[in-house]
Amino acid sequence: MRYRKREKKDMIKQDNLQIYYPGDLQDALLLYNKRPEAILTAGSVELSRTETWQHYQGPVIVLGNIREIKRIIKTERYLEIGAGKALSAILSIPSPNIPLLLKKSILLGCPAPARTQATIGGNLCIPDKTYDIHGALTLLNATAEIRKTNHTRWIPVSDIRNTTGFTTLEEGEILTRIRIPISNWEIQEYIKFPGAFTTASINLYGLAHKEDNLISAIRISIKTPYNPPYRYPETEKSMIGKSSPLTKHEITQITKEIAEKVSEEEPEADIRTITKLISHFLQKI
Ligand SMILES: Cc1cc2nc3c(=O)[nH]c(=O)nc-3n(C[C@H](O)[C@H](O)[C@H](O)COP(=O)(O)OP(=O)(O)OC[C@H]3O[C@@H](n4cnc5c(N)ncnc54)[C@H](O)[C@@H]3O)c2cc1C
Repeated sequence: MRYRKREKKDMIKQDNLQIYYPGDLQDALLLYNKRPEAILTAGSVELSRTETWQHYQGPVIVLGNIREIKRIIKTERYLEIGAGKALSAILSIPSPNIPLLLKKSILLGCPAPARTQATIGGNLCIPDKTYDIHGALTLLNATAEIRKTNHTRWIPVSDIRNTTGFTTLEEGEILTRIRIPISNWEIQEYIKFPGAFTTASINLYGLAHKEDNLISAIRISIKTPYNPPYRYPETEKSMIGKSSPLTKHEITQITKEIAEKVSEEEPEADIRTITKLISHFLQKI
């Protein structure tokens, strides 16, 4: 097996801490299969902020040298981004080729100095936190490739996290690439309250498209600090065919309808802020 040969050369050993630097994806998968207790690290931006990392003594697999997970491919149907791609590199993709919603979620999610190290895969795979990019990719109907030594599966990005916000990746699995369908959303909005880089925030993700001043497609999701994003397809459907801009009355009605639905699911949610965010988005259409 190739990784055995590389292991000695590509490993740093400090006391009990073993750090592996696999040079390609196959090596990383074999190694992770052999050492499922290992911690994967991409840019280590999030890991370096956690307590676990400071006291951790087990094996670490560094994904930073793997070229296969740093590619960007654009076809007529989709944009594909390797999980190991740095957020700064994703921001530098020229505008019509990358959804603005994704760019906005990176800009409001990750502080500028950390973007050259932080990766899109790392942002999606933090075990216990659902960060900003997840909601953007979910609303864009993006899918993700998850690989194990002998198995590959594609899942919607939304399914990377369960309903309590924890990762669904299984032992030995690595997120390798994300595929975003190409679509021409005219309005792409991301609002984060109370502001950028806050973890316990309320987020609104919104997409809308108009044809001849009529709303032809719309998606809205609301993320509260500790719950998965809420989305109401029936309310979205009821807006299709309405004239743009929406009337004051329509904005009030739709805002109230969504806010009430969130309140039913999460009575303690900050409905005042949620109402403001929805109303702000609807006024942009
Ligand atoms: C002060 C500060 C505040 C921040 N606030 C926010 C915020 O509010 N919102 C936001 O979106 N971002 C925020 N970020 C950025 C965020 O920490 C990083 O975008 C994100 O964690 C990715 O970092 P990384 O790529 O270095 O991942 P790492 O720290 O290397 O890894 C993060 C986790 O993902 C796992 N992992 C990494 N890659 C893979 C893979 N390919 N397959 C499977 N598992 C993998 C690791 O095992 C680890 O558990 C903040 C950063 C800083 C420094």
